[in-house]
Amino acid sequence: MAFLNDNYLKLRAGYLFPEIARRVTAFCSANPDAAKRMIRCGIGDVTEPLPEAVRNAMHKAVDEMGVRDSFRGYGPEQGYEFLRNAIAQNDYRAHGIEVADDEIFVSDGSKCDCGNILDILGDKNVIAVMDPVYPVYVDTNVMAGHTGPANEAGAYAGLKYLPCNEANDFVADVPSERADIVYLCFPNNPTGSVATRAQLTAWVEYALKNDTILLYDAAYEAYIHDPEIPHSIYEIPGARECAIEFRSFSKNGGFTGTRCAFTVVPKSLKACTASGESHPLHPLWNRRMTTKFNGVSYIVQRGAEALYSAEGKSEVSALISHYMGNAAILRQAVSQAELKVWGGVNAPYIWVKTPSGTSSWEMFDRMLHEANVVITPGSGFGSAGEGYFRISAFNSRANVEEVARRILALR
Ligand SMILES: *Cc1c(COP(=O)(O)O)cnc(C)c1O
Repeated sequence: MAFLNDNYLKLRAGYLFPEIARRVTAFCSANPDAAKRMIRCGIGDVTEPLPEAVRNAMHKAVDEMGVRDSFRGYGPEQGYEFLRNAIAQNDYRAHGIEVADDEIFVSDGSKCDCGNILDILGDKNVIAVMDPVYPVYVDTNVMAGHTGPANEAGAYAGLKYLPCNEANDFVADVPSERADIVYLCFPNNPTGSVATRAQLTAWVEYALKNDTILLYDAAYEAYIHDPEIPHSIYEIPGARECAIEFRSFSKNGGFTGTRCAFTVVPKSLKACTASGESHPLHPLWNRRMTTKFNGVSYIVQRGAEALYSAEGKSEVSALISHYMGNAAILRQAVSQAELKVWGGVNAPYIWVKTPSGTSSWEMFDRMLHEANVVITPGSGFGSAGEGYFRISAFNSRANVEEVARRILALR
C-alpha cells in the first residue's frame, strides 16, 4: 500500500466552519420558522456584484478569445505584463514605493499563495503566527510537516504563537526570541486590527536584525481609512530585504469567486541555503510558478486590470464604502448593547468581547438561538480568541440593519 502524508492526520479536521455548519443545520431543522429569518454574518465572503468595469473588460476579453488573431493560449505563468505593470504602478510606484513589474507574480488567490510559498522555504525554520490567526497559515505548515501534534486547545507543538489581546490592541508585539518566518496580516482577519507605521517599523527592524522573513498578508488593505496606517509593508524602509507581500482582488474587487491575486517577491530578498550561503528567493518563486502553475486566465486578468481604470477605482471605492457603512452600523449596535468592540474601522470585521463569563461558543449559540444570526466564535481562530466573537460586515445593508436591531433586542 502507498504511504499517505501523515501530517494531514494531525489537522484538527477543519474544526471551525464545519462545526458552525453543524450547529446551524441542527438549529434550522428543529426551528423551521427561525431558519427563514436566519442571517449569516459568519463567513468572510463578499456579497455585492462584480463591478461593471470588470464585467465589460471580461466581456471584451471573451470576444477576443473568439477570434483567431486575438485568441490566447497559455499565458506567462507570472501573469500578463499589462496586469503586472498596472499593479506595480498603481499599488506601489504611484505611492512612492519601489516595486518592479517583474517582482509581481499574478496568481489565482492569496490563500493559495500563502500555502504555496512554503515550497520555496526550508523545513527547519522557526515559524511564528499571531493568535488569533487566519487558519491557513497554521494548517499549511502542519501539512508541510513543520509542526508536531495539536493540543487540547488546538495549538500545534513547534509553532510559536504571538498572543494578540486587549493589552496590545490585537497587534502582536515583537517577541524577545527569534523566528525565521513570521506571518503578519493587516488589516487583520479575524480581529480587524491594523498595525501603525511604528509597529510595522519595529517588525521590519526585528526581521533585519534576526534574518527573519515576514510573510505579510495585506488582503484587506483597501479597507484602510486612516491616512496614517501603511497599506504595504514596503512603505517601511528595509522591508524589501525581509518581506514578501500577499494581496488579492477578492475583497476589494469582489473577486472571491472570479479568482485573482498577486504576490510580491522583491529581488533583494534573500534566504539561506543548507550550506549557509545567502541566496535570492525571487528566482525560486519564479521557478515554482513556471513549474507548478500555468497562469490565471486572460479573461480574468483583463477583469483585474479594469479595477485600476478610473471607473474601476470608483466602483471599488463604492464597494468599500458599502461594506464599511455596514461595519459602522454593526459597531454602533454592539456598543449600544454595551459590549466591548474592536475593528470595523479599517477592516470589514468587528471583533467583540462576549459578556463576562460567556465563552465564544456559548455566545455563538445565543446569537443563533435568540437572534437567529450566525457569527464566528473567536476561539475557532486560536486560544487567544476565546471570549470574543467576529461579525463580518460582508452583507446587504438591509441584513446588517436587521442584525443591528436584533443585537439591541438581545438584552
Ligand atoms: C480573504 C482572505 C484572503 C484572500 O484569499 P484569496 O485566495 O485571494 O481569495 C487572504 N488572506 C486573508 C486573511 C483573507 O481573509
